[in-house]
Amino acid sequence: MSEYFSKRLKDIMPYTAGEQPQDKKYIKLNTNESPFPPSPFSLRLCRESAGDMLLYPDPEYNSLVKVAAQTWGVNEENLLFTNGSDEALNFAFIAYCDKDTPAVFPDITYGFYPVFAAINCVPKKEIPLKEDYTIDIKDYFNAGGTVFIANPNAPTGIALKKAEIEEIVANNPDNIVVIDEAYVDFGAESCVGLIDKYDNLIVTQTFSKSRSLAGARVGVAIASAALIGDLKTVKYSTNPYNLSRTSAAAGIGALLDEEYFNDNCEKIIEAREFFVKKLVGLGFSVLPSKANFVFAKYKDICGEKLYSELKNRGVLVRFFNKPRLKDFIRITIGTKSDMEKTVETVSEILKVIK
Ligand code: PMP
Repeated sequence: MSEYFSKRLKDIMPYTAGEQPQDKKYIKLNTNESPFPPSPFSLRLCRESAGDMLLYPDPEYNSLVKVAAQTWGVNEENLLFTNGSDEALNFAFIAYCDKDTPAVFPDITYGFYPVFAAINCVPKKEIPLKEDYTIDIKDYFNAGGTVFIANPNAPTGIALKKAEIEEIVANNPDNIVVIDEAYVDFGAESCVGLIDKYDNLIVTQTFSKSRSLAGARVGVAIASAALIGDLKTVKYSTNPYNLSRTSAAAGIGALLDEEYFNDNCEKIIEAREFFVKKLVGLGFSVLPSKANFVFAKYKDICGEKLYSELKNRGVLVRFFNKPRLKDFIRITIGTKSDMEKTVETVSEILKVIK
């Protein structure tokens, strides 16, 4: 750290991004990306837009917003596109948290929430998950701050039902509730349909997982026109051209190629169910996942050991060195063939170290 670094930030613990290894080819199951390439239509639109790169993009991203309004059955004024959904979440921290309005979220959840709280110098209130790693919705009623819930949650993969989220939103008339639906397309229920009923609800989604565009950085916030107006104030005060032209074009292609999107989500869900059955057969405990990853542990072998044994054999997964998480590994769901190979590798490891 240089002597010039702001004192305000000297204790900050930045988010640790998953490895993007350059050394060799892994079965890469560590950052919850899609194993499928972007839709061919997405790539075509992206290529066609590249020649216009000399010009700034339309900061309202009207073409993308029009298509997205159709996709989600909302009005154009209910949408704000962002540079990944991380940016939408950060905008919400900036817009709706301050020294008297803490960010409220589970103690086990997406690791970026505490970092957003820290970088924005706002207090946080972390609510422990229950023993079984689920959320007790009553813990979030009248939360006394801005609520952030990933649904499905990360890294557990466990989802709340839409009716349960609605109870949380209805029981926070004085607070904003942000539902982070990064993984919703793999079997959970979306709350987008509730934005007309509740003016305190923001739903965020990403194109990084189910729409195969992690590298394009496309996220979205969906909420009442008034809340989107607040978030736009933040956007125009930080980064008006927050998506590149090519990313916006890729986003349009991803939304219009619905068949490709649906097929890929189905394939991931199928591969997940196959993989979970196999892991359980091998003696693993696996939390019930509605995401494109599973969180699994094996008796008394710690997560770090499983992670490194898998890495040595060419399978990259993620482990978290934290209380209640360190016995687990988080394994992204790839293609069926990726998961078959992973099952073989896991079996081999168990033979050697059991
Ligand atoms: N929310 C959750 C729960 C996530 O796991 C991620 C991915 N790391 C994000 C949001 C952000 O994804 P992106 O910025 O790629 O849209």
